[in-house]
Amino acid sequence: ATLAKTQPAAFDTRAVQQRDSAHYLHPFTDHKSLGERGARVIVRGDGVHIWDSEGKQIIDAMSGLWCVNVGYGRTSISEAVYKQMETLPFYNSFFNTTNLPAVELATKLVSLAPAGFNHVFFTGSGSEANDTNVRMVRRYWDLMGYKDRHTIISRHNAYHGSTVAGASLSGMEGMHAQGGLPIPGIVHIGQPNYVASGRGMSEDAFGLEAASWLEKKILEVGPDKVAAFIGEPVQGAGGVIIPPATYWPEIQRICDMYGVLLIADEVICGFGRLGKWFASERFGMRPDLITFAKGVTSGYVPLGGVMVGERVANVLIEKGGDFNHGFTYSGHPVACAAALENIRIIEQEQLVEKVGGASGAYLAERFASLRDHPLVGHADSCGFVAGLNLVKNKADAVHDCELFDPELGVGMVCRSFMFANGVIMRAVGERMIIAPPLVMNHTQINDMISLIRRSLDDTLQELQRRGWS
Ligand code: PMP
Repeated sequence: ATLAKTQPAAFDTRAVQQRDSAHYLHPFTDHKSLGERGARVIVRGDGVHIWDSEGKQIIDAMSGLWCVNVGYGRTSISEAVYKQMETLPFYNSFFNTTNLPAVELATKLVSLAPAGFNHVFFTGSGSEANDTNVRMVRRYWDLMGYKDRHTIISRHNAYHGSTVAGASLSGMEGMHAQGGLPIPGIVHIGQPNYVASGRGMSEDAFGLEAASWLEKKILEVGPDKVAAFIGEPVQGAGGVIIPPATYWPEIQRICDMYGVLLIADEVICGFGRLGKWFASERFGMRPDLITFAKGVTSGYVPLGGVMVGERVANVLIEKGGDFNHGFTYSGHPVACAAALENIRIIEQEQLVEKVGGASGAYLAERFASLRDHPLVGHADSCGFVAGLNLVKNKADAVHDCELFDPELGVGMVCRSFMFANGVIMRAVGERMIIAPPLVMNHTQINDMISLIRRSLDDTLQELQRRGWS
């Protein structure tokens, strides 16, 4: 069957916004203020663009929520999904049953993963995958006979999901403040944020310093109580925090020294975003578990999971006994079919190679060109993620820049201009970040950079008008 690309039927935007605020509680949203403003209604996507209900075309420089790696409007994914739904829309993987797309996808993922990864556990989302990690590493240490080794170390400003365990692993204060989190046995160390914390140090020296916080925490908790360390190779939601080159090798050394399992949360970083199938490879990490979601299906349907390395998988399998964990949608055949087609596209169009090569280099160069803007104190990128810091007064050294009062919400002012000018950029405090679809070509990168520059100009003018700059 060939599915025609359809335009949504005409509707009254205001009426949709009213029904939206009357009935739909959005995630991570102040429901009261959204009700007052009304949500933007996004109706269609194609390639790197989305359109809202007013017909406005926007460059989606955030790939939805860091996930639409192959871009919008991929008919072959819709067809793969349609075909699988017609054949077998659902079957579970409990009770000694399996399904063909899940087996095929597990096999494919193992072929793409670093050496030593031969097993996959499927979930419906990144949060569920990190919940799986919590239970799996504790199960591992139980089976090894170390029943006290249950503490997991994470980092401030990490994002690992919004389930109870995922939000506990996350290091966001605003999340912990709601619902009595973190749960017991999850502790946090500082993040390797050179701009925020590296004053007076070289980047390399700061990377080693930030890694040493892990060793301090292991010794504080007691090495015989620490199960695992979890981290995003590049922190995403925390503001695209790209660690110094010295950081991950030193973290790896510390994990090895104390026998602590290493979990790489690659929900954002995987599937080509940093120019490798799995970003750990780029950073000299040898993780025991890798969390994935988002880019595995380019967000077309929900799917997540954990790549389980030999160290853990061998113990789970050889020691036997039930692992009492899983989801209705673990190995969902439709989601797995979508992932297989998505991966086929990534391979066919050599998107990993492009981001690791010419496209990534071009984005880096063009994004760095924004450094000359009077509002930009710092700008950096890694593969297809990038971020810039808005500052009140620039200085040659990043640590000498004068910052805006966070209370002013300058990042949000800038974000509004971005949207008005037709580009989606996210604000994390005063850091403006992007994660474009991996299919973005040079012309589109130029268009995006022009819109960002124009929006920075508009922001500066507005700040001057308000007397903030
Ligand atoms: N881990 C990371 C690194 C993420 O960025 C996210 C989502 N932004 C998650 C986990 C949670 O994934 P999900 O929203 O699919 O539960």
